[in-house]
Amino acid sequence: MSKRILRLILGDQLNSQHSWFNQIDPEIHYLMMEIGQELRYVTHHIQKIAAFFLAMRNFCLEKTKDGHWFIYMRLEDPENSQNLSQNIKDILKKGNYTQFQYLLPDEYRLDQELNTLIHEIETIYKIPAKGFDTEHFFTDRKYLERESKGRKVYLMETFYRKLRMDQNILISEDGPEGGLWNLDKENRKPYDFKTTIPPPKTFSHNASPIRKTLDSMGFSYIGQMKEDRLTWPVSRTEALEGLSYFVENLLPNFGQFEDAMVQNEPNLFHSRLSFSLNIKLISPHEVIQSCLLAYYKDPTKYSLASVEGFIRQILGWREFMRGQYWATMPKFSSLNFFNHSRKLPSWFWTGNTKMNCLHQSISDSLTYGYAHHIQRLMITGNFSLLAGFHPDEVDQWYLGIYIDAIEWVEITNTRGMSQWADGGIIASKPYVSSGNYISKMSNYCKSCIYDSKKRSGENSCPFNSLYWAFFLNHKRQLEKNFRLTMVYKNIEKLNPLEIEKIQNQAQYYISHLESL
Ligand code: FAD
Ligand code: SF4
Repeated sequence: MSKRILRLILGDQLNSQHSWFNQIDPEIHYLMMEIGQELRYVTHHIQKIAAFFLAMRNFCLEKTKDGHWFIYMRLEDPENSQNLSQNIKDILKKGNYTQFQYLLPDEYRLDQELNTLIHEIETIYKIPAKGFDTEHFFTDRKYLERESKGRKVYLMETFYRKLRMDQNILISEDGPEGGLWNLDKENRKPYDFKTTIPPPKTFSHNASPIRKTLDSMGFSYIGQMKEDRLTWPVSRTEALEGLSYFVENLLPNFGQFEDAMVQNEPNLFHSRLSFSLNIKLISPHEVIQSCLLAYYKDPTKYSLASVEGFIRQILGWREFMRGQYWATMPKFSSLNFFNHSRKLPSWFWTGNTKMNCLHQSISDSLTYGYAHHIQRLMITGNFSLLAGFHPDEVDQWYLGIYIDAIEWVEITNTRGMSQWADGGIIASKPYVSSGNYISKMSNYCKSCIYDSKKRSGENSCPFNSLYWAFFLNHKRQLEKNFRLTMVYKNIEKLNPLEIEKIQNQAQYYISHLESL
């Protein structure tokens, strides 16, 4: 019998440079599908659904033009069972395939589903199956687990330095280029209101047919998409344009304003490359190489702090999060170190809160399916931890709302870095702050009805009382953390009356979350 191979490509596996495509063979059929299952495990932002479907359709079109054979199942196709495994089994049966091949999924949920399916097709259908690497990341799934074996603590910084050395990135004869591994100290400035902020690189795609299909089939979604136009890149060509635009226009100031927040400036100097990267339109190697090329060509335009700071996000944080995900799942997804249990207030889905920082960050998220890192970490994430929301609630919200949210990189950031529900696997201390930090790093407080300087009393900033109450209430779990020594020293200086005022104020805000 001649060979006939069915190859599965998932929606976040659009790596057009994959070695699978080195040869054209009419006996190899690629399968891609839009399925209800993926729209229902969480309620997604409308732009996220549209961007995934448009990028998948483009990928199929481009590869078909190159001569490859594709089976593409649209959401509305009558044969679509809306279930991944069922569709694969139906197609395998109909097509007389002799082999099934797939790219290793990045999500634990899909990995488990495929493992079960493969067992079934190998034992019942007698079709051999094989998984292949996506050829996207610097490290394999289990790299971090191997590296961290036997170590009590394994920090991102250790992981990042090792990868810098292994990959020979920003390494000189004497060690790290410029003498330091990490130039973060230079990257913590608030915006100066002088440096021009270039507009983001956007595109314009008609996503109206997709929205209409979702509506007619009764799929729900969150967020908005102005006039049904999608502005995110949905092809490799567009993703590469986005990369060039970033390197040319935004990278020079990325570092210094990396932690800044500005009202009505949802992008600042951030790259907006996460979606293109996470669905693999572009690779982390080529993103880093583009930055290095520009830096070595014109070191006067790019500071080392900017270039190193950006590379650390991709080579360090992104690979580290993936490694931690595969080292800790499925246990990670149920960790709740502080036993937090509250529900998110309804304004997380409308942005209708009087707290201006949260109003801005949530409104940006609903409008664009995007918020930059500091809004995610120090505004929505910070408040969620201080208010004691259940990590499941917080995870669901982040997983649904962001264009780039795929579980391996969402849950490690949300449950780990932001909610510290892992008790310190990802970050050495909880990322929380009072209104003081937000006031220093943004201009949100200037047009807020709350007073960032007041800890208690009328119009006191909720972040303040909640911040101190958080450390008071979790003293037993946190006071031995050496990175929090200063915080607990400051708490010792508070007199009992002040502590009582703070606790009462925090309690009041917690019992009035909906109306804050
Ligand atoms: P830039 O600021 O330009 O950074 C460049 C790139 O570095 C990003 O595109 C991303 O690929 C990578 N990167 C930066 N920080 C991180 C990080 N902490 N972890 C992994 N990669 C990083 N990122 C996602 O891709 N998907 C998510 O679902 C996601 N959820 C998050 C949830 C929370 C609570 C927090 C605090 C962060 C989350 N991040 C997530 C990380 C980061 O916020 C986004 O990658 C970034 O905001 C995307 O915008 P950008 O492309 O403009 O990033
Ligand atoms: Fe946010 Fe408080 Fe500042 Fe208002 S005063 S914007 S609530 S930090």
